[in-house]
Amino acid sequence: MPELPEVETVRRTLKHFIIGKEIKDVQVHYDKIITGDSNQFRTTLTGQTIRDIDRVGKYLIFILDRDAFLSHLRMEGKYNIVDASTPLRKHEHLGFLFTDGTALRYQDTRKFGRLELVNKDTYRQDLPLSKLGPEPWDADPAKIYAKIHHSNLPIKTLLLDQHLMTGIGNIYANEICFTMKMDPRTPGKRLSKKRVAELISISQNILEQAIAQGGTTIHSFNANGITGLFQIQLNVHSQKICPVCQSTITKEMVRGRGTYYCKTCQKKRG
Ligand SMILES: [Zn+2]
Repeated sequence: MPELPEVETVRRTLKHFIIGKEIKDVQVHYDKIITGDSNQFRTTLTGQTIRDIDRVGKYLIFILDRDAFLSHLRMEGKYNIVDASTPLRKHEHLGFLFTDGTALRYQDTRKFGRLELVNKDTYRQDLPLSKLGPEPWDADPAKIYAKIHHSNLPIKTLLLDQHLMTGIGNIYANEICFTMKMDPRTPGKRLSKKRVAELISISQNILEQAIAQGGTTIHSFNANGITGLFQIQLNVHSQKICPVCQSTITKEMVRGRGTYYCKTCQKKRG
């Protein structure tokens, strides 16, 4: 699943290729990929030029002349930029044909991704974006502390709560707990104000490092499309041996999500 750094890489890559392109037609091959009326989606966007691409959490927002639409890649969504004459590939559910003869296609093997028209001027205040918490860069430690200091939920689970903070997925939640040297099962209420501030600052650093690593893939993508996926350096997620103490990494489910941690390094319970 793409996480915030990957989505940011997709945003930067797409910006490089499609800003200034005018949409000649929108071809919808699978109606349900559009939230709302797919016909309205098509007629609204046809004739407009893509002016910018914004990102809020893991949502991409394509800004056009008069309207905007958002796109969430969910599990497997990705974009392909092709010559318009290229035959439709399997799982390509949507195509934006541009007046210059190229096309942007949305491909999604699992069909979980969604696109939706939104108001160009108010999308940050409107649903679904309005219900998202701040990204770690905008998070106020006092407010986050106030929200978790009665919570019995594991800190790992709280990190994934997009209402609390947005943009942290399973991979980075594992990495953040590792850097905190904290047992991911620690209840939120055990964290002091100081530790919450630390949690936010470590979240920022880890996402920034990943964005910086993803930056090297910008302006190039292969036949697999623009997924934003890149080789990120992970300490604990999907790892077998702890890079710090060489112990075996433990994998167990915490509230339904695969959680990796080092029982030797991550002893802190708060
Ligand atoms: Zn270790």
